[in-house]
Amino acid sequence: MKMAKEFFVKPASRMKGGVLVKDNKATFDLKPQSFKPKKVVIPLLQQCTKEADTTVQVGDHVKKGQLIGDSGKATARIHASVSGTVTDISKRKIAPKQKAVCVTIETDDKNEWLETLAPPSVTNADELIDAAFEAGLAGMGGAGFPTHIKLRSAYAAKAKTLILNSIECEPYITVDYRACVDYADDILRCVEALVTHIGFERVLIAVEDKGPKADEDTLIEKMQNSPIKDIIRLVRLKPKYASGAEKMLIKALLNKSLPDGKLPSDASCMVMNTSTTAAFGYYLLTGRPLINRALTVAGSAIKEPVNIIAPVGTLIGDIIEFVGGFVSKPYKLIMGGPMMGMAVDSTDYPITKTTNGILAFAEKMARVKKQTSCIRCGKCAEVCPMRIVPTDIYKAVTDYGKPDINELHALSAQACILCSCCAYICPSGIPLVEGLEKGKRLVKKGVRKNAECKESCDI
Ligand code: SF4
Ligand code: SF4
Repeated sequence: MKMAKEFFVKPASRMKGGVLVKDNKATFDLKPQSFKPKKVVIPLLQQCTKEADTTVQVGDHVKKGQLIGDSGKATARIHASVSGTVTDISKRKIAPKQKAVCVTIETDDKNEWLETLAPPSVTNADELIDAAFEAGLAGMGGAGFPTHIKLRSAYAAKAKTLILNSIECEPYITVDYRACVDYADDILRCVEALVTHIGFERVLIAVEDKGPKADEDTLIEKMQNSPIKDIIRLVRLKPKYASGAEKMLIKALLNKSLPDGKLPSDASCMVMNTSTTAAFGYYLLTGRPLINRALTVAGSAIKEPVNIIAPVGTLIGDIIEFVGGFVSKPYKLIMGGPMMGMAVDSTDYPITKTTNGILAFAEKMARVKKQTSCIRCGKCAEVCPMRIVPTDIYKAVTDYGKPDINELHALSAQACILCSCCAYICPSGIPLVEGLEKGKRLVKKGVRKNAECKESCDI
C-alpha cells in the first residue's frame, strides 16, 4: 500500500447542515451470501420514472437475464431475475402506498442464464449509453434514476468529472463498501469505459473517513495498473449524514451548488453509486444485465446482521426466513436505511433494484419520540442541507386547511431531498418528513397542472 497516498486528497467538507448519526455498521467484513428464493415478484415499476410494459405472458418459461419489462428509453429495462415459469402478471401492492404491475416467476431450480447474452461491443459513447440501457441499470443508491439517461445528459453536456459515490452515510448499510471490496475489477472496468467514451477528464471516488479501509485499499491496489490511474483521486469525506446525497456530494467535492431542477451535468459532472458502477462493469464483461441486489439485513429484531445478494423481486419475508427469522416481533420494518428508507407494514413486499437494506427493530429501539408542540428552537433549519425551513413548510402543509401551493413554492418545498435530518434532530418529535413529502408532492402536482393548462392554452 506504499503508493496509496498519491491517490488521496482530503478536502474540508463544504457541506452545510447535516447531522452526526451513530452508524451501527456491523457487516463491513461480511461478504454477501447468495440467496436463491423459490419465487420472485418483480415490479415493473423499479424506479422514479414510469412503469414498464410487460414483454412476457403467464405460462412463459423464462431464463435469467431475459427481458420481461420494457417501455423504451424513458425508463430502465427489467429482466427475469430467476429461471422458471411466469405464473402471474397482475397489479399488487409493492409498498404501503404504492401499487404496480408485477411479474411473478416460480423458479425451476435450474438457475439458468439466457444463452444469447453476450458482452456488448462498445466503441463509442452511443454504444456505451445503449449498453447501460440494455443492462437495465438504475441508480442503486436510492432514487433509481435510469443510468442511460444520466449518461446521455453527461455526454451531451461534455461533463468533465465523474464522481463515484461510495459514501453510504445511512447507518447499518454496508453494500457499497462491499462492492468496492468484492467487485473492484468491475468498478474499474466501468470507470475506464466511462472515461474513454464519455470523455470525463477526472474521476473522484468518494468514501467516508471512518470505519475499515478495505474498500479504498482494494480500489487503490487495482488502480495501480490502470491506464487512467493519473486522473483518479480517492477522496475521504468527514463523516456526516447526508453527505452521500448527490447534491451534497457535488457541493462538498466541487463546491458547486445545484439549485432545484438543475442536473449534475449542469455542474459538469456525473455521480454514480459504486454498486451501480460494479453492475455496469459486470455487464460490459459478460452481457448479463442487472438482476440481483445486494442488501444489508440488520436491526435489533434480526438474529445476526448479514449482507446478502438476492434476485430482484425476492419477498422480504423470504429474506427474513433465510437469515434465521426475527428474534422478536419487529415493531418497525424498513426497506432501505433508517434515515431515507421506507417503513413498511408487511413482509409481503418485493425488493427492487434500489433496495439496499432491510432493517427490523424491536420496540425498544424503534419507539418514536412523543410528539409535542414546536418550541421554535430552529434546529431543524440549522441541520437542513438544502437551507430551507422545514418547520415553515410543515406548517404550510398541515396548519391552514388546504395548503397554499404558491406559499410552498415560495418556501422551496420542492428542494427538499427528504434526508430526514430535520426530523432526526427535532426535540419535539414532529413528523416533519411526512409534511415535507406532502409539500413536495403538491408542488409537483401544481407544476404538472400548470404545464397541462399552458399546453391547452397553446393549442
Ligand atoms: S426542530 Fe422541531 S421544535 Fe425545533 S423549530 Fe424545528 S420543528 Fe420546531
Ligand atoms: S428532509 Fe428536507 S427539509 Fe428536512 S433536512 Fe432534509 S432536505 Fe431539509
